[in-house]
Amino acid sequence: MSHIAKNLARVQAQIEAARTRFHRDDEVQLLAVSKTKPVEQIIEAWQCGQRHFGENYLQEALHKIADLPDMNIVWHFIGPIQSNKTTPLAQHFDWVHCVDRAKVARRLNDARSDSQCPLNICLQVNISDEPSKSGISLDELPSLAAEIAGHPRLQIRGLMAIPASCDDFEQQQLSFSRLADALTNLQKTHPDLPLDTLSMGMSNDLDAAIAQGSTFVRIGTAIFGARDYSARNPT
Ligand SMILES: *Cc1c(COP(=O)(O)O)cnc(C)c1O
Repeated sequence: MSHIAKNLARVQAQIEAARTRFHRDDEVQLLAVSKTKPVEQIIEAWQCGQRHFGENYLQEALHKIADLPDMNIVWHFIGPIQSNKTTPLAQHFDWVHCVDRAKVARRLNDARSDSQCPLNICLQVNISDEPSKSGISLDELPSLAAEIAGHPRLQIRGLMAIPASCDDFEQQQLSFSRLADALTNLQKTHPDLPLDTLSMGMSNDLDAAIAQGSTFVRIGTAIFGARDYSARNPT
């Protein structure tokens, strides 16, 4: 077995163990974060059955998407969004996880083609209230959600967060439970929307995220190994 196959199996086993431990009967999907990694490694993971891939850098991601047609890959954009680059985002991705501005949402809606199914959107919440981090506050969530709900070519699926890094399991759970509660509130105000997604949990807080209802855990290093940013093309 290649190291990617072994790593994928290990991460999946960890997800399964957490699902059992926290009595999760519903699905927890693995989003394989392949940023900075070559298409050969994506193909290796794909051959193991992995279908959801997450990318952070738009130009790099567009090359990979073009190089890997007809493979049924579900492409997720999980990086910061520049509002002048929304057109390729809207046209080439299936999901965008980090929407935190009405202007970005409007531009994504304008750029998504009528022939495509609606673009799946998660709103990014700054759950730890860190001034330096992107994401809206919980207070801003209802109005942004209401605005996006009016965009016909976008479909809000749920919420995404990157909590402040912390090694304490209880503390990790507390952050994730705030995001889960926010989703429950949104579901009450928008019973018509398919709000079924909590994009939360990375390598060091995956168990706490699954305990609190994560439906997508985003894992990179534990599958593909450490990233070498010096080797990346500056595109
Ligand atoms: C890079 C990244 C990940 C994956 O991080 P790893 O530490 O490599 O597992 C997850 N989520 C987001 C938003 C990221 O940018």
